[in-house]
Amino acid sequence: MSDVRVRFAPSPTGYLHIGSARTALYNWLYARKTGGKMILRIEDTDVERSTDESLDTIIEGLKWLGLDWDIGPYYQSAYRGEHTEAAKRLLSSGHAYKCFCTKEELDQKRAGSEGKSEFGYDKKCRRLSPEEVSAKEAAGIPYVIRFAIPEGEGTVVFEDKVYGRIEKSWRDLEDFIILRSDGTPLYLLSNVVDDIRDGITHVIRGQDGLGNTPRQVLIYQALGAPIPLFAHLPLTLDSQKAKISKRKHGEAVAIHFYREKGFLPWALCNFLALLGWSPGDDREIFTKEELIEAFSLERINRSNSVFNLQTEDSKFFTDPKALAVNAHHIKSLPLEELAVLVKPVLEKAGIWNAEYEGSRKEWFHAALDLIRERFHTLNDFAEAGRAYFADDFELEDRALERNIVKFPALREHLPVLAARIEAMEGFDPHECENLMRQLCEELGIKPGVLINGVRTAVTGQLAGPSMFEALTLIGKEKTIKRLKNVGWVFEAAEKLKK
Ligand code: GLU
Repeated sequence: MSDVRVRFAPSPTGYLHIGSARTALYNWLYARKTGGKMILRIEDTDVERSTDESLDTIIEGLKWLGLDWDIGPYYQSAYRGEHTEAAKRLLSSGHAYKCFCTKEELDQKRAGSEGKSEFGYDKKCRRLSPEEVSAKEAAGIPYVIRFAIPEGEGTVVFEDKVYGRIEKSWRDLEDFIILRSDGTPLYLLSNVVDDIRDGITHVIRGQDGLGNTPRQVLIYQALGAPIPLFAHLPLTLDSQKAKISKRKHGEAVAIHFYREKGFLPWALCNFLALLGWSPGDDREIFTKEELIEAFSLERINRSNSVFNLQTEDSKFFTDPKALAVNAHHIKSLPLEELAVLVKPVLEKAGIWNAEYEGSRKEWFHAALDLIRERFHTLNDFAEAGRAYFADDFELEDRALERNIVKFPALREHLPVLAARIEAMEGFDPHECENLMRQLCEELGIKPGVLINGVRTAVTGQLAGPSMFEALTLIGKEKTIKRLKNVGWVFEAAEKLKK
């Protein structure tokens, strides 16, 4: 058992996106590696922007990715009383003060400070005497509570696991508000109070939290709580080095997008892990156990990572590296597990057969094993692989162009091959190959021409696994039928020519 406690603290204001999923993953990896605890805390204090739908997609996304938590979900809003109480404590210990300045007053001062890059509150109310404060309160003047940044020549220092030692001078920090005039706490305070209560030892979060940290460290100190270790994660940029955002990239920033596109949950985790962390050697493919073992906060990169969301090549709908990682996991997953993942894909395409879990299980696994070699996503099983599971399949344009259009004589040859296969006794890959080669010799055509023509007529594809093995898998009867019935293939090829 270790005393490491980390948390993933999403605000439920949108769906689970790549950046926050990576934060969740790094927290999870660290908890699993150290034997510590992972807490899920929903930071729902922004009532206006928090929605139940968002919360549902975040939880669903985490579950789909396989990132489980040990404690929670906690809801920040449930602890509002504690946050307010902490503000009061800071008030009585002299680390905070009541500020009666009105918005108009502050706006005026801000306007008057033009030219200065940042307007900092001038601490007018910090100088009020206790009598003045009491008088204002008695008069019913509303007030906010501001944190009192220490005065004089000093700095706040903390150690970030990724960015190193960070030092910020007190002078550069404004006396910030911790409690609004309606008594509601501000996020900066709530976040710290929750981390103290939850006993968080390591705050692993996005780089956008780094600007808050000096003020938060002062809150820890003022509340007399130990300061956790911080690790801020570098930004993830797109290929133009711009921050990835929903506005620019649409659904491609959302975890559910990758799920719908046929990513294996673990393959996506594997890829996300590499966005900002490296193992220190050239490994890129990890099983869950391997990644937990290899992960360390020390090897998180300081430089921003690039997720090539939109590729120039329309062949790819996302980062080719992400697809390569997914393809790798598709190839190496035990068939039993792959079958479970392919099932809903075939179901969705309307080509699932219950026998694949019963009498034809062995066939199904053999089919998956044969065709997975070239696949990049689970959806490929229902798309490029459709002909293995259904009789209605599409013909790839480039397959027609290269394998059919150029060889019109195949219209006669393929039915001849069908008749030869029909006359065969058995139907194994080896015999099939002999038969096809012999026919090519008789007809005076190259084996490649016949084999590729067969591939397109029987599977609709330009490329695929060994044709002889594919045919035996698809089966004698279906092969014969598809080779006899090639009319539609040539008609499609005709149309393409026009
Ligand atoms: N709720 C914050 C966010 O979603 C989390 C900040 C933190 O981890 O401290 O950005």
